[in-house]
Amino acid sequence: MIHEIVIVGGGVGGVRIAKILSKWAGGTGGNGHHINITLINKSRYHIFYPNLYEVATAHIPEVFGHMPLDFFNLKSSAIYPLEDIFLDDLNVSVLEDEVVGINFKKNKVKLKKSPELHYDILVLAAGSETNYFNISGMRERALPLKSFFDALAIRNAVDEAFFRAPKNHIVKIAIGGGGFTGCELAGELVGYMKKLAQVHGRPEYYGECLIIEAAENLLSGAGTALQKKAKARLEKLGVKFKFKSPIQGVEGQEIILEDGAKIPYDVLVWTAGVKANDLTKSFSGVKLEKGACVAADKNLRVLPYKNVFGVGDIAYCVDEATGKSLPMTASVAIREAKYIAENIKRMILKKQLVNYKPHHAGFIIPLGGRYALLESRGIRLSGFLPWVAKQIIALHYWATLVGWIKAFGLWNRGLQIFIKND
Ligand SMILES: Cc1cc2nc3c(=O)[nH]c(=O)nc-3n(C[C@H](O)[C@H](O)[C@H](O)COP(=O)(O)OP(=O)(O)OC[C@H]3O[C@@H](n4cnc5c(N)ncnc54)[C@H](O)[C@@H]3O)c2cc1C
Repeated sequence: MIHEIVIVGGGVGGVRIAKILSKWAGGTGGNGHHINITLINKSRYHIFYPNLYEVATAHIPEVFGHMPLDFFNLKSSAIYPLEDIFLDDLNVSVLEDEVVGINFKKNKVKLKKSPELHYDILVLAAGSETNYFNISGMRERALPLKSFFDALAIRNAVDEAFFRAPKNHIVKIAIGGGGFTGCELAGELVGYMKKLAQVHGRPEYYGECLIIEAAENLLSGAGTALQKKAKARLEKLGVKFKFKSPIQGVEGQEIILEDGAKIPYDVLVWTAGVKANDLTKSFSGVKLEKGACVAADKNLRVLPYKNVFGVGDIAYCVDEATGKSLPMTASVAIREAKYIAENIKRMILKKQLVNYKPHHAGFIIPLGGRYALLESRGIRLSGFLPWVAKQIIALHYWATLVGWIKAFGLWNRGLQIFIKND
C-alpha cells in the first residue's frame, strides 16, 4: 500500500520530518509499506534563520558594481535549495507552490498554481509570520525580519540611511521589540553601523541603535539573570533602550509611543510580534489558540482530524514544567518533528502513538561578535564558549540535512564572512 504524506512547509520542522520518514521507508523500516512524501514550500529555499542577522548586517563592498563571491557564500549560509537537501531521497518530491486552503474532510490541499493534492496523512509545518498587532503605520513603515529578502532589505536600508543623511545628522536605527530577534539583531547592527560610518566618512557616534520595548526588561521569555546579562552586553556595545514604552503608531519618520512621546527614526525594524501563519485562519473545525496557532493534542495531532499533525511555530503546545506555551524556536520544532515522524510511522504500522512531552531545552543568544549567552537546564554561561556551542549546533544542523562534507563547506564559508564582519 502506498501512503501519501503531504507536508505543508519546507522549514525546520517540515524538512526534519521528511528526512526521518524518507530514511525509514527507504531502508527496511517501512515493513513493505511504501510512502510518497510531497513537501510543499512557497519558495525553493530552506531558510536557516539564525544566519539572517548576519545577512542583515553584512558589510560586503561591491567590486566594480558586481556582488563579490562573499555575497553568494553568505546567501548559501542562510538559504539552501530544498531540491539539494532531498537529492538522494527518492520518495520525497519538493513542490514549489503556495498552499491556499485545506479541505480536511476530503483530505485535499488547495494550491495556488497546481491542481489539488490528495493526502492520507498531512503535516502542517507552515511556520509563523510577523504580527503587527494592528499598530497604525507599522506594517507600512517598519521592516520585518522573517526571510532572506527581509534581511537584505534591512541591510540596504541601513546602508542607504548612512549614505543619504546629511553629515551632521545622527542616523537612528530603531528596533521595535527587545525579544530574542531584536536583541540579536541589535548586537550585530552596531558593528555594521560602525563600519558604515567609516565607509561614509562619519565619526562612529553618528549612528544610534535604539531598542524600544513595551516590557520593563529585554528577553521577556528568559530568566532574570540572562535578561541582565543581555542588557549589560548590549549597553557595552553601545545599544540604547527605551523600556515600558509600548508603540502606539508610526507616522512618517516618527514612532509614537502610548504616552504620546515621539521618537524620530531613519530605519525602523519590527521584531516584537509573531503569530501563526495566516493560513490557519482559513481552517474550518480546527481549534486555534494564542497567536492563531493550531491546538495540538498529546500526539501532536490537530484535532478533530486524526490524520493531521502540527509542528513548530504553527502548533500550540504547553510546557508541563512551566505551564507556559512553548516558544517559537527551531529546537522546539526539531523535537516535535521527531515525535511526529515516529507517530506517522506508528500510524502506518497500526501501532499505538507515543505521547509528546513538551519541553523547552533552553536558549543560546549570540549578542554581537564572538559572544553569546546560554541558558539550559539550570546552566548559565556567557562569552566565547556559548558562541562556539552555537556554531557547533549550526554545523550539526546542516550535517543532518546535507551530510557532513557539504555542511562543513557551507558552515565554514559563512563563518569566514561573519568573522570578517565582526
Ligand atoms: C531572524 C530569526 C532568527 C531565529 N533564530 C533562531 C535561533 O537562533 N534558534 C532557534 O531555535 N530559533 C530561531 N528562530 C526561530 C526559528 O527559526 C523558528 O522557530 C523555526 O524556523 C520554526 O520552524 P517551522 O518549521 O515551524 O517554520 P519555518 O522554519 O519558518 O518553516 C515554514 C516554511 O513554510 C513555508 N510556508 C509558509 N506558508 C506556506 C504556504 N502557504 N504554502 C507553502 N509553504 C509555506 C515557508 O516558506 C517556510 O519555508 C529564529 C527566527 C527568526 C525569524
